[in-house]
Amino acid sequence: MSGKKYVYLFEEGHAGMKDLLGGKGANLAEMTNIGLPVPPGFIITTEACREFYRCGQQFPPGLEDQVREMMGVLEKKTGKVFGDPANPLLVSVRSGAPVSMPGMMDTILNLGLNDRTAEGLARLAHRRFALDCYRRLLHMFGDVVLGVEHAKFELILERWRQKRGVRYDYELSDEDLDQVVEEYKALIEGETGRPFPQDPTEQLFLAIRAVFNSWNNERAVVYRRIHRVPDDLGTAVNVQVMVFGNLGSDCGTGVAFTRDPATGVRELYGEYLPNAQGEDVVAGIRTPLPIETLKEEMPEIYRQFADVCERLEKHYRNMQDIEFTVERGKLYILQTRAGKRTAQAAVKIAVDMVREGLITKEEALLRVDPAQLDQLLHRRIDPRAKLNVIARGLPASPGAASGKVVFDADEAEALGNKGEKVILVRTETTPDDIHGIVAAQGVLTSRGGMTSHAAVVARGMGKPCVCGCEAIRIDYDREEFYVQDLVVKKGDVITIDGATGQVMLGEAPLVEPELSPEFEELLRWADEVRVLGVRANADTPEDAARARALGAEGIGLTRTEHMFMAPDRLPIVQEMIMAATPQERQAALEKLLPMQREDFYGILKAMEGYPVTIRLLDPPLHEFLPNGEELAVEITRLRLTGGSEEEIRAKEETLKKVRALAEFNPMLGHRGCRLGITYPEIYAMQARAIFQATARLVREGAKVFPEVEIPLVSDVKELALLRQLVNRVAEEVKRETGVEFEYAVGTMIEVPRAALLADEIAREADFFSFGTNDLTQTVFGFSRDDAEAKFLHEYAEKKILPENPFIVLDQAGVGKLMQICVELGRRAKPGLVIGICGEHGGEPASIEFCHRLGLNYVSCSPYRVPVARLAAARAALKAKASPQ
Ligand code: ADP
Ligand code: MG
Ligand code: MG
Repeated sequence: MSGKKYVYLFEEGHAGMKDLLGGKGANLAEMTNIGLPVPPGFIITTEACREFYRCGQQFPPGLEDQVREMMGVLEKKTGKVFGDPANPLLVSVRSGAPVSMPGMMDTILNLGLNDRTAEGLARLAHRRFALDCYRRLLHMFGDVVLGVEHAKFELILERWRQKRGVRYDYELSDEDLDQVVEEYKALIEGETGRPFPQDPTEQLFLAIRAVFNSWNNERAVVYRRIHRVPDDLGTAVNVQVMVFGNLGSDCGTGVAFTRDPATGVRELYGEYLPNAQGEDVVAGIRTPLPIETLKEEMPEIYRQFADVCERLEKHYRNMQDIEFTVERGKLYILQTRAGKRTAQAAVKIAVDMVREGLITKEEALLRVDPAQLDQLLHRRIDPRAKLNVIARGLPASPGAASGKVVFDADEAEALGNKGEKVILVRTETTPDDIHGIVAAQGVLTSRGGMTSHAAVVARGMGKPCVCGCEAIRIDYDREEFYVQDLVVKKGDVITIDGATGQVMLGEAPLVEPELSPEFEELLRWADEVRVLGVRANADTPEDAARARALGAEGIGLTRTEHMFMAPDRLPIVQEMIMAATPQERQAALEKLLPMQREDFYGILKAMEGYPVTIRLLDPPLHEFLPNGEELAVEITRLRLTGGSEEEIRAKEETLKKVRALAEFNPMLGHRGCRLGITYPEIYAMQARAIFQATARLVREGAKVFPEVEIPLVSDVKELALLRQLVNRVAEEVKRETGVEFEYAVGTMIEVPRAALLADEIAREADFFSFGTNDLTQTVFGFSRDDAEAKFLHEYAEKKILPENPFIVLDQAGVGKLMQICVELGRRAKPGLVIGICGEHGGEPASIEFCHRLGLNYVSCSPYRVPVARLAAARAALKAKASPQ
């Protein structure tokens, strides 16, 4: 027994019923109820679809009767009769899921036609129209319902066009179309062993069944996986009276956006085709005309349509994407939905709509997806460009760049200095390649993950980088790389897109990033709302200035090792590492001191008025030395070619040191504060440089707030010891300069033990900063490069982890530990300043989590500062809407 209502007339629904009626159906209902010209119809609910699957792909009891009854209602409304040749009712059967899945599922038009009703239609209108509708039905029904390959129908049509020497279907004669219809019917019978069903009611139920089934066709399933749409929603089915855009030249069909979806400009944007049915516009069979032509050809219709667009926009308070059809001078609206738009358009539309009084500022902030903003903040490939993609690697550092292929850092530098654009292509990069990376537009490597040297350095410099592109094979000797049998030579131009990982042959046209006035305005609104502070990770005064211009309120992480890797520093750093005696080491450090002082002076000055967290040296020392294997090869080469003894001896010394410093597991090795414990003179030099720069700025009248950060602490005693060292240096500098200044000393939280002992550690710390890259590595026990290169993709596929935890913070595990840390830390020291400085600090979902944790700030790369400002505002708004 079933009294359940599975079918709703359009009049019975409204826009709030998307879950039950699907997006398309709910909006058709809404438009009907506000009096727009929508052809009548009814909706079979998503619940019926779910029941259908539950019953083993059987219609649930009662559904068929309800559909028949509704068809009766449509007959009454139109005065036409389903299956009656005298005045046949034709309908479309359209899919419509609760979330928009454009083009993923199927729709059938002109249903109800058969040999007899087609004759009837020919008599009522004209023959060519009837044949055109019939062949369309046979094609769509054959393809969607009966599973006959789409291409086979196309082929028949194509043969007829060739035979007649014409380009377009509408140029075929009535007789030709008659033949096409016959051949279509024969094709269906031949392929399925059954003639095309002539009974309209049978057609209807087969079509409904097919739309239900299309919920699980392959492309729909894949789409849902990519867009994280649950599999169990089901689709609704809309049955709607047909209106005809293919009755003649006073007819047509089109699609329009109420604003330009690319730029956001407020003007109708769309296309239309005279004498055509809906599918033709998207199918690309004929080139549609811009919507402005409609203004000239049917000015009254255009005026009505423009009115409808305006009404719909006001009604939905959002930019709409609208389907329409004109039948013999009468306008019909067939669909409306929120239009998809570029980031640029999203920002402009949101801000414009606030100014127009359509939406509130808060709504505007919630309308723009921060993840999408990335598109606006880097040079990017012109979205209209045609691309010749040859390979794909990891999207390591966003932005796009074109240039000549070079395989050697020196050569990159030489060409770069001459003003040439180059892309440095290496298997992987080392500190020795830095000058080449500086000179190049971008970097492409065939090996290495998201934290490989190339990736980290490129991100730090804001240069595009594609790494781990395993499809390319590099031959350094021949100065070529290969993608299968494609050869790319030195000097050939390629383009890399560090946001997608794509590698393209030739130069792709790029467009510059811009902060439009609307974007600035939106971000100002974000600042009014957000609770989280937003800082940037910046290693140079230029980065600091850029970050500040983008709205950063301080620096959450300055990595001093990047300063060590600069070409003029590296030899001195190596000297320091190679030093045989403490005196030698001290001499090298003396040389580094003024350089570091300049660095810190520049950065602190650029961030005047805001706090600047400076992390003392973090990576293991061997990262600053050349690669051992390459060195060994070089030594052998020198020996064989009679190189100077002195040079050989020097290289051997270096090799010895390289070997001595080699570690089994550098990620867990001699790094972070462990370096500070064993080489306190290095940290002392860095602290001195920071404080001397501070003293000088204070003397110059600047307000500066240096925060000295000790990395990788796992025990309070490490921190206590190093804090003493830093304090001692501060006192010395104050005494030497006679300048008073403020500073803070704190630590990164990046190993589990530190988080678990946060209450003890807090006693020695003025601040905490979560280094969530290392924290993720140490909590999972994954090394990021290995995980990303070898198994994380399978973890994603097998749904073991919902996301790559190095990109989206793992709230369940890493997040829980952070929560414990925050609680313990603040219990011991109320008001303890806590931030996050991992890449996660610029990722919207992670930022929302940080807001809920009650952190003081997030810190991210300069270019992501606007993303973080918006994401932080949205986090605050969402928390306000649903407090926990
Ligand atoms: P999609 O979700 O792929 O856009 P639709 O169900 O919207 O599929 O339909 C495909 C095309 O058929 C659209 O252009 C639509 O406007 C047109 N169409 C659908 N129903 C009708 C109808 N009853 N009369 C005329 N055209 C229709
Ligand atoms: Mg549509
Ligand atoms: Mg770290």
